[in-house]
Amino acid sequence: MLRLPQFDVVSPETVPEVVEALGKTPGARLIAGGTDILPNLKHWLDQPPVLVSLARVTALRGVRRDDARGVLRIGAGVTLSELSREPSVRALFPSLAQSAGAVASPIIRNMATLGGNVNLDTRCRYVNQTEFWRGAIGGGCIKSEGDVCHVVPKGRNCVAAMSSDNVPVLISLDATIVLVGPEGERELPLGSFFHADGTAHTRAQPGELTTELRLPLPTTARRARYVKWCVRRSIDFPLVSVALRFDLDAAPGSPEDSPDAPITAAHVVVGVLGSKPRALSKLGAVVGLRLRDPAVARAVSEAAHAQCRPLANVPYEVHYRRQMIKVHTRRGVEALADGD
Ligand SMILES: Cc1cc2nc3c(=O)[nH]c(=O)nc-3n(C[C@H](O)[C@H](O)[C@H](O)COP(=O)(O)OP(=O)(O)OC[C@H]3O[C@@H](n4cnc5c(N)ncnc54)[C@H](O)[C@@H]3O)c2cc1C
Ligand code: SF4
Repeated sequence: MLRLPQFDVVSPETVPEVVEALGKTPGARLIAGGTDILPNLKHWLDQPPVLVSLARVTALRGVRRDDARGVLRIGAGVTLSELSREPSVRALFPSLAQSAGAVASPIIRNMATLGGNVNLDTRCRYVNQTEFWRGAIGGGCIKSEGDVCHVVPKGRNCVAAMSSDNVPVLISLDATIVLVGPEGERELPLGSFFHADGTAHTRAQPGELTTELRLPLPTTARRARYVKWCVRRSIDFPLVSVALRFDLDAAPGSPEDSPDAPITAAHVVVGVLGSKPRALSKLGAVVGLRLRDPAVARAVSEAAHAQCRPLANVPYEVHYRRQMIKVHTRRGVEALADGD
């Protein structure tokens, strides 16, 4: 049996009370659905003296359209089940409804929140193990009890994988993240929230919590899709994840809004590489082409293959995963071209 370390739990009801509770005890950690942090605590990857529960903070719940700001506002406490079913998300941001519905299993999605998913700890085959298992490989690694990295043996940094299903999609949709802490509220592009250190891979400051994600409302027609490859259809974390978005030269819902409209921009974000997602560059060659043109699927999948180097931080051989990035990117673009 895996035992939890001992900790206290406090359950504030407002965001200022959460900030106050975090400030009171050094090392206090937030818990929302608990589907990531509790397994990690059972593996003794952390021993916080206090868990600050977000379960009673009603201000973190709900999805609302804010036309004054031109965004859809999604509370950090919205569960992934709610997100995958939410009509405004399905209509405006179908790739997000898709990625939320692709996480784990229905029971986990009923507990898991978007805030927890965005702040999900990085994962690695050498660290998401019992303490006993880690002891058997020479006393853990940089992210646990040791000082070496088993993925990059001469490396000084941890390169554990950012494995959230929703983060690549949110970045592809130009989401911003709203953080509240002792210094007040700040908003930053989600794409700049992550950095390449698997032991501390977000730019959240001590005492800050995520309160919401904001998605700019689409101003042109677009086609977007999330592609996830994993061993089992349910439960498993992604081994390859690709978020695709193509903006089209047409007004949303107009007669020209079809895969035959010329592409005006392509946004492709790949997850499960290192500790931060990778937004592909050099996709300008597809601008002006139509999704149905096979050159689009070819150019985007080749760019994904050229720019992405998976590491041996999650299961499966790295060259195979790199090949799978190419294959699944191509299939994703082809599905969009077919109107799926
Ligand atoms: C069997 C299994 C399979 C899984 N499969 C997947 C998968 O396929 N894809 C995937 O993406 N995830 C997967 N997960 C991980 C997890 O279920 C989800 O990522 C989930 O969305 C985490 O949300 P939570 O509310 O449960 O987070 P919690 O476990 O409560 O918290 C996770 C982390 O986020 C922090 N946190 C929570 N809320 C906030 C907030 N508002 N502000 C700042 N920090 C916060 C916590 O302190 C903690 O560090 C899986 C988990 C399990 C157990
Ligand atoms: S990437 Fe290296 S340091 Fe990080 S968890 Fe894996 S083995 Fe440990």
